[in-house]
Amino acid sequence: MRKIELHWQIIIGLVLGLVYGIISTKLGWGVFTFNWIAPFGVIFINLLKLIAVPLVLSSLISGVASLSDMNKLSRIGGKTIAIYIFTTAIAVSIGLISVNTLRPGDKIPSEMKIKLQSQYNSEVNKKSSNVNNIKERGPLQPLIDMIPSNFFLSASNNRNMLQVVFVAIFIGIGIVKTPRNKGKLVKDFFQSLSEIVVKLVDFIMIMAPFGVFALIAQTINKITGDNPNQILELLGALAFYMFAVIIGLIAHALFTYNGLIKLLTNMSIKKFYKGIAPAQLLAFSTSSSGATLPVTMERCEEELGVSEEVSSFVLPLGATINMDGTALYQAVAAVFIAQTMGMSLGLEEQLIIIITTVLASIGTAAVPGAGIIMLVIILESINVPSQGIALILGVDRILDMIRTSINVTGDASVAVIISSLEDKFSKK
Ligand code: ASP
Repeated sequence: MRKIELHWQIIIGLVLGLVYGIISTKLGWGVFTFNWIAPFGVIFINLLKLIAVPLVLSSLISGVASLSDMNKLSRIGGKTIAIYIFTTAIAVSIGLISVNTLRPGDKIPSEMKIKLQSQYNSEVNKKSSNVNNIKERGPLQPLIDMIPSNFFLSASNNRNMLQVVFVAIFIGIGIVKTPRNKGKLVKDFFQSLSEIVVKLVDFIMIMAPFGVFALIAQTINKITGDNPNQILELLGALAFYMFAVIIGLIAHALFTYNGLIKLLTNMSIKKFYKGIAPAQLLAFSTSSSGATLPVTMERCEEELGVSEEVSSFVLPLGATINMDGTALYQAVAAVFIAQTMGMSLGLEEQLIIIITTVLASIGTAAVPGAGIIMLVIILESINVPSQGIALILGVDRILDMIRTSINVTGDASVAVIISSLEDKFSKK
């Protein structure tokens, strides 16, 4: 019998999870789902998170250690960061075009505004207090945060992925600079570890369709809670806003990613999406580019032919700092909130949105719901009351799923582009 391809298996899990989720909320099986279905989703995500640090560490160390030319590292680094910032700025601009032309904020009835404001008031306060901690930090804090004083502490929390990236590069450089016979043992160790970890990712992916089923079923239960009609009412009221975000995200994938891949690589668009589809689906189901990282790396290396030295650097960095989907969503959300409040934003404010959003998306953590916390900072930079996020909180999880898929697609397309540019460079 022919084996069903992985992305189809995951799609089947996703659709069944969706169907089960809807039926179970209708029949009031929330507790059963929480006790007996949701744990499999948690186990699946935990396995992915478990593998992320060893994967990044071993593949990046062996990637850097095998570089014969140290200039290559700075060349890859420079190009990667430049493309990341460039694509994020384009994403924000597309978001702004979408929200300024569709003007979804003008279509919200005022009773709905008042209702949402009072309903989500306490959640808004929670999010705003998170922001205060972020705002108290100095300008160079992100740089300080990258350099750990104790590696075991960094490795104990997946949120410290940039620290792991830094340490891996540092050790890799150490290996290159050590006489060959003396550094070989450690180099071989990490090379072998990276092979083993990639195998483990394959094992974990056997569970993917079941994990995705459980995650989607539980997400639907969480979103609808004990009142399924409420989410329908919300979806109706915010349909136009959601449309403005989703159409922007699709346009960004079609024009920016497809355009750059066509322009700068020899890969067909079909091959790219077929290769990366499991990672996109996983990003959709987990709403976390961090948890998806091991799969993004594996797919880029094994299906799209990206070399280990490129993928192990570009992808962990991308998962932490490159969030085009999040940035686009933040721009649409900021202007939407201003529109609902009857405030009109001029060119100057829109430019401020581009700059703060690019910076905010860099600082957004690769976990569910992080984007909306940074949105508070963007709103404050254009003097829009941050209480306005109450308007969009109810549908945030759904948009988070879609924007996370775009975040992961963005990272993967840059990995493919850098890999192809490097190939051309070495051929020359
Ligand atoms: N969930 C997103 C991610 O992990 C971040 C966000 O936009 O909330 O990429």
